[in-house]
Amino acid sequence: MSKEVKAWAATSPEKIEPLRITRRALDDEDVAIDIKFAGICHSDIHTVRSEWKKTEYPLVVGHEIAGTVSAVGKNVTKFNVGDRVGVGCMVNSCRKCENCKEGEEQYCLNMVETYNAKDPKDGTITQGGYSKYIVVDQAFVLTIPESLPLDKAAPLLCAGITVFSPLNHWHAGPGKRVGIIGLGGLGHVAVKIAKALGSEVTVFSQTASKKELALQFGADTYVTTSDPKAFDGLGRKFDIILNTVSAKVPLEKYLSSLRRDGSLIQVGVPPEPLQIPPFSLLPQRNGIHGTLIGGIAETQKMLDLCGEKQIFPEIEVVPASYINEAYDRVVKSQVKFRFVIDVSTI
Ligand SMILES: [Zn+2]
Ligand SMILES: [Zn+2]
Repeated sequence: MSKEVKAWAATSPEKIEPLRITRRALDDEDVAIDIKFAGICHSDIHTVRSEWKKTEYPLVVGHEIAGTVSAVGKNVTKFNVGDRVGVGCMVNSCRKCENCKEGEEQYCLNMVETYNAKDPKDGTITQGGYSKYIVVDQAFVLTIPESLPLDKAAPLLCAGITVFSPLNHWHAGPGKRVGIIGLGGLGHVAVKIAKALGSEVTVFSQTASKKELALQFGADTYVTTSDPKAFDGLGRKFDIILNTVSAKVPLEKYLSSLRRDGSLIQVGVPPEPLQIPPFSLLPQRNGIHGTLIGGIAETQKMLDLCGEKQIFPEIEVVPASYINEAYDRVVKSQVKFRFVIDVSTI
């Protein structure tokens, strides 16, 4: 049977407020999840404010979902009632294309996002995690290891995989030098994961104010980019530079500090086009790439690594009544480092 559940929904670009929504009845492949925590991602804010594509109101956002299984469909083999589980940015895909078959469901042309997308199972618009309960196909549900607290696991489901996937794909690890631009919600997790993978890590940040934290998170080196001499002496040192900043960053100096075949990978989403002087790419066969979250198997690998190495995002747990204020603080960069909603307050 379908179920009416409590949620906090965007009723307009300006406001998120309590609303009851209906979740579909479980089909044979579905897992029902009692949500315990939901992270607040900057993408939620862009979507609520209709800044990326047209948003259908009312809409429940949230794609960093952690909770426990409360029921399973009859063909569900991966999960049992009571299991600790997570759901990230997607809830379905075609399962037939080459991207799906190769475990890169996030690049499926028919990938279904966790909110504001058409659900192929019932034709409704998908509703995200700022809610007590969700129904998701077992193929898109992740296991959260016992060693990861659910509140801290939530941000890993978007922020964590967003930085893990490029580090994994471009082979961060022992003997590799990784630069991370920005030490916010994405950047701080990137530092911890790159370090756990065995890389040498440098953080680039505009001011010196985050130096102590960066070193505490495991960074080996900290570069204050507002210093005119910041890049002097760096040479061509980096195998991978991950740009996590969603504002304009002059990329030329970063590209010129990549080794031969090194890559600059863009995960931040600034509003204006990137400016890339061609001569910063040519001399050492460097690349610039974009990347989007990660596949389901890769997301599980990231959660398992974070459980094993005890990698936790820095979070501030807030009640649902604080969501609107939290959004304002995220936009003003006044958050350290990720807000997580305590869903018991919904
Ligand atoms: Zn996100
Ligand atoms: Zn597909």
